[in-house]
Amino acid sequence: MEKKQFKAESKRLLDLMVNSIYTHKEIFLRELISNSSDAIDKIYYKALTDESLSFNKDDYFIKIEAQKDNRILKISDKGIGMSKDDLEENLGVIANSGSFKFKKDTELKDGYDIIGQFGVGFYSAFMVSEKITVISKALDSETAYKWESDGAEGYSIEPCEKEEVGTEITLTIKENTEDDNYDEYLDEYRLKSIIKKYSDFIRYPIKMDVSESKLKEGSEDEYEEYVEEKVVNSMIPIWKKNKSELTDEDYNNFYSEKHYGYDKPIKHIHVSAEGMVSYKALLYIPEKTPYDFYTKDYEKGLELYSNGVLIMSKCADLIPDYFSFVKGIVDSEDLSLNISRELLQHDRQLKLIAKNIKSKIKSELESVLNNERDKYDEFYKSFGRQLKFGVYNDYGMEKDFLQDLLMFHSSKEKKLVTLKEYVERMPEDQKYIYYASGESNERIEKLPQTELVADKGFEILYLTDDIDEFAIKILMSYKEKEFKSVSSGDLGIESEETNLAEDDAENKDLFEHMKSVLADKVKAVKVSKRLKKHPVCLSNEGEVSIEMEKILSAMPNSEGVKADKVLEINVNHEVFTSLKDAFENDKDKLDLYTNLLYNQALLIEGLPINDPVEFTNNICKIMK
Ligand code: ADP
Repeated sequence: MEKKQFKAESKRLLDLMVNSIYTHKEIFLRELISNSSDAIDKIYYKALTDESLSFNKDDYFIKIEAQKDNRILKISDKGIGMSKDDLEENLGVIANSGSFKFKKDTELKDGYDIIGQFGVGFYSAFMVSEKITVISKALDSETAYKWESDGAEGYSIEPCEKEEVGTEITLTIKENTEDDNYDEYLDEYRLKSIIKKYSDFIRYPIKMDVSESKLKEGSEDEYEEYVEEKVVNSMIPIWKKNKSELTDEDYNNFYSEKHYGYDKPIKHIHVSAEGMVSYKALLYIPEKTPYDFYTKDYEKGLELYSNGVLIMSKCADLIPDYFSFVKGIVDSEDLSLNISRELLQHDRQLKLIAKNIKSKIKSELESVLNNERDKYDEFYKSFGRQLKFGVYNDYGMEKDFLQDLLMFHSSKEKKLVTLKEYVERMPEDQKYIYYASGESNERIEKLPQTELVADKGFEILYLTDDIDEFAIKILMSYKEKEFKSVSSGDLGIESEETNLAEDDAENKDLFEHMKSVLADKVKAVKVSKRLKKHPVCLSNEGEVSIEMEKILSAMPNSEGVKADKVLEINVNHEVFTSLKDAFENDKDKLDLYTNLLYNQALLIEGLPINDPVEFTNNICKIMK
């Protein structure tokens, strides 16, 4: 019998496949089952238009049969079957595999489902088989044919006997190797779990002989084993069911079954969309952060199904990074497993779905925020950071979309509040949205810089996350109210600005001297308009705040990023009298005081002091 060669490209793919660029070898079963399901579909569709055909759904199923002893795994169906030409065309060449060339080998990593993408499913069976035999009889055909191949060497086709229309695929499973256990593909339990995992929702029954045990007749404690053909898939996916049929418990069970998380989701979103693109989606918003969420190991993505068949287990393109915590699945009939469709079009549809999903998630989050605040608080503790990153990323592209989901701790409410809530209760004479940054709410509470703003009765938002101030800077304003740091040069509180210039002028020489002592550690020494009880504080001029300096200097390669600091002096504090006195009578003392005050200001800010030993020595000096 003549042996035919695979086409060059098919051969290359076959090599890649067999040499296992793909570590989930088990997916071969999904592919064969989905081919069978398609073949049954084809008969079904034909029957819709061809009156001579009748389709009785009960006659159609997919049979899986494992014979451990001779290492055989059979997958058979009574689908449309393949003629000799079909076998030649379908299994000898990879349709459109030209597209395959566009992908570099490096892109064909695990998790990127090339098989689903390129419709080369059948070949995946070579990952686990040393030989594949396909016996098929096409609808309307008298003869059946046998296609056989033991891999890259080529294949043969010859006529054979087969009574019923349909296809029977026989895999001779490879022997175990040091690295791979192929026995598992003959194991009933393992096969069942692979089917459950990938093909549970195939529309036709997947039948398998399953061993069971029952009480022996006449006995009360003796069992006997028997084999029974059982349907191993559930056939209807939860997302295809009607919302009204499902309870919260059903949704939560599915969440756990899928191992989406060990918590209870705060919300499930069940979408059934028709129109420009049809899809069903079941999405979950978790309550707790997965342990690896804020590490680079965490992979976002939704499961992507096409017609009940899993084609990608983590489709990252479906959700934006800022919603990376969302878990769930998307199923669309508009996406094909088949490469015969334009890849671009495929992408466009995916984008459309992603866009819809994005706004759906947002509106659901808003509804939790408005109606179930406690839940939102929990959620926000876990994932608020991610939303703030979303505001900051891509130069603030998505800031308008996300700003209403943000919350910050409020000085007045002592809890997280939204920007909307803040702005709505702003008194008329308040121009800005004030914020203060620091390590914790407790520390910010004590910051001298907050004194004036708090004294005015204005609410202050406490920024304690390292991303916060960056996000606020990108936002710039909310509902036309600008954000203003309590440490910034101009606070926009007018009453306090009178006399300021006078005070500065009056103490010009003193401040210049102090500035010369501190040299380039500070930009200037000035009269403070914001201090009430404290003698000194630092404020900043320019874009980089003191909090940002702390964060940036902790990052690699960013040394030297410094805030322009201003040492502010409270001229109403008694310490100021001592300063003036020292300026008149004892310059050494003034130098000592200046250094002490500067270091105090650093400590209040949570910044390290340059020379702690000198600082403590200085304190000792004044104690003498
Ligand atoms: P895909 O299914 O994505 O097209 P495959 O390599 O898995 O790619 O299969 C190639 C083709 O072989 C299918 O498109 C189908 O026409 C045919 N085929 C595979 N399995 C069967 C089957 N069980 N019954 C009928 N046709 C089949």
